[in-house]
Amino acid sequence: MDNISPIPEKLIKKMIKVAKETRKNAFAYRSMHKIWASVLMWDGTIIWWCNVEWVISWLWICAERCAIDNSISNWEYDIVAVCTVDTKFTPTCGACLQYIMLFSQILDRDIWIINWDIRWHYKIQPLSELLPDWYKTKTNLQLMKKYIKQQIAKKNKK
Ligand SMILES: [Zn+2]
Repeated sequence: MDNISPIPEKLIKKMIKVAKETRKNAFAYRSMHKIWASVLMWDGTIIWWCNVEWVISWLWICAERCAIDNSISNWEYDIVAVCTVDTKFTPTCGACLQYIMLFSQILDRDIWIINWDIRWHYKIQPLSELLPDWYKTKTNLQLMKKYIKQQIAKKNKK
């Protein structure tokens, strides 16, 4: 597939490779539908995680959100792209798109969504195209921006 994003092909392949390496960690005991995700940061850092299924089905969490939460735990917020890896083409779900959209609002720029399947086909689309309208909150957004600024300042002090 043509790469229409500003992300170099080499970096996309690296994201896919990193996501694929999490295969053994996917926790999909019930559906056996294992999905892996990686998140590319502005500085080139790539952080990953897998989906986690739980006994109570509404507590299941997608790989994309797990990978982003892992990024947050590493004080990494500057998201450029989110990539999923599955054996078949699986688009990112609406809940994850909304989750990622919050970062797009915080960063005030689009984020690229990459969905890859085992045959080395992938689709790369801007988040704004996949979710042209979304839930918006001004107060929480300002609080979150302030908090992230403080977290980055703490990180830079280390
Ligand atoms: Zn999802």
